[in-house]
Amino acid sequence: MHNEVRSAALNPYHMAVQQFEAAADKLNLTEDMREILRQPKRELVVNFPVRLDSGRIKAFTGYRVQHNVNRGPAKGGIRYGPDVTLDEIKALAMWMTWKCAVVGIPYGGAKGGVVCDPKHMSPSELERLTRRYATEISIVIGPHSDIPAPDVNTNSQVMAWIMDTYSMHEGYSIPAVVTGKPLSLGGSEGRNDATATGVLFVTRQGARRIGMPLRGARVSIQGYGNAGAIAARLFHNEGCKIVAVSDTHGGIYNESGLDPAAVLRHKQERGSVIEYPRAQRIGVQDVLEIPCDILIPAATEGVITAENADRVQASIVAEAANGPTTPEADQILFEKGTLVIPDILANAGGVTVSYFEWVQDLQSFFWNVEEITQKLEVIMNRAFAAVAEKADQFSCDMRLAANMLAIARVAEATQMRGIYP
Ligand code: NAD
Repeated sequence: MHNEVRSAALNPYHMAVQQFEAAADKLNLTEDMREILRQPKRELVVNFPVRLDSGRIKAFTGYRVQHNVNRGPAKGGIRYGPDVTLDEIKALAMWMTWKCAVVGIPYGGAKGGVVCDPKHMSPSELERLTRRYATEISIVIGPHSDIPAPDVNTNSQVMAWIMDTYSMHEGYSIPAVVTGKPLSLGGSEGRNDATATGVLFVTRQGARRIGMPLRGARVSIQGYGNAGAIAARLFHNEGCKIVAVSDTHGGIYNESGLDPAAVLRHKQERGSVIEYPRAQRIGVQDVLEIPCDILIPAATEGVITAENADRVQASIVAEAANGPTTPEADQILFEKGTLVIPDILANAGGVTVSYFEWVQDLQSFFWNVEEITQKLEVIMNRAFAAVAEKADQFSCDMRLAANMLAIARVAEATQMRGIYP
């Protein structure tokens, strides 16, 4: 049983820069352009007080990083967690820039986070923390400058508080300042399922590429939150067999297949997937190595490493999480013929429907779920085809291909705008 989740040595920002340099080398990008693109445009660090339910005051640290805004306003989620670091947020902001470019939506990349332990905070403490953090970062966010969204440990309620706080300061409602809002506040149909739906669309294309039928395919999923639990439901509906899932507490395995809805109910009632009856208990990392056809990392960064990549048995790794595979592991997986559908492509369904939400908010005219899903499928399939073509052209893995495609688009926009002054 492997319970260690993240290698202590792993620095996501170093990983993001390493991936950037590899694509930049392949593109023969000039040193001038690398100088502009390899670091974030803005890094805001805020330290702010929050009154706890006990009456005491605690200071929290938060971040908002904008990597590049040459193709449009900055876009990216906000995560809460005890291990959030500035380097992690910088990496995620850079990945957002490439992600928006790879699917061709007019945004730059950003990310935010607050160092806190949301599982040990009451709803009213979380609300005060969110409103104060939103106020602190309001100097950089806005419907035309930087639009946050949910990420790990944040949800539509948190987005509603940010939207309300920002609107209170401006004096009128500005729903387009965040996406991933509740439907009642200008959220979009389909946003909740969007990331997992996008993962399904590109996995269908990936399965076709390697000639593997999706029906009956065995799927293992790390993380059972927004991305992971919904992917379990959608892949199950597609005729796949969900053989293993996990969360921070551990994993469960049943080679005959788990019932995703029953597992979700169990997690909602008991706080974890572990101890779900009708399954064998496995370790957090074991879900990555279990016999399966499709592996969906949907938890956190740096979980597939040089140490365990060789033991990954899946034919397809569809990265719902951001940054789950280290560059060394990428090499190992590529050499053994595993098709890795990289994060910036695989999980781009979330930001794509966020884009639809923002467009709907700005025009105050809303589409139905069929329209949303149809538009999402067109964008995901088009992006998959473009990345696959690039991978074939350069005989490289899909991550390098996706990064090349994205970086070339961002570099072109940067070049056309020129350097101010
Ligand atoms: P979430 O908070 O809803 O769920 C995260 C899940 O992962 C939880 O079940 C948690 O228990 C589990 N988890 C966390 N750390 C873990 C670990 N070290 N090992 C095993 N399980 C662990 O978060 P989410 O929104 O589902 O995001 C998951 C991943 O997907 C993140 O990398 C996020 O950046 C990425 N992502 C999410 C979206 C989205 O729309 N929600 C979009 C794109 C990418």
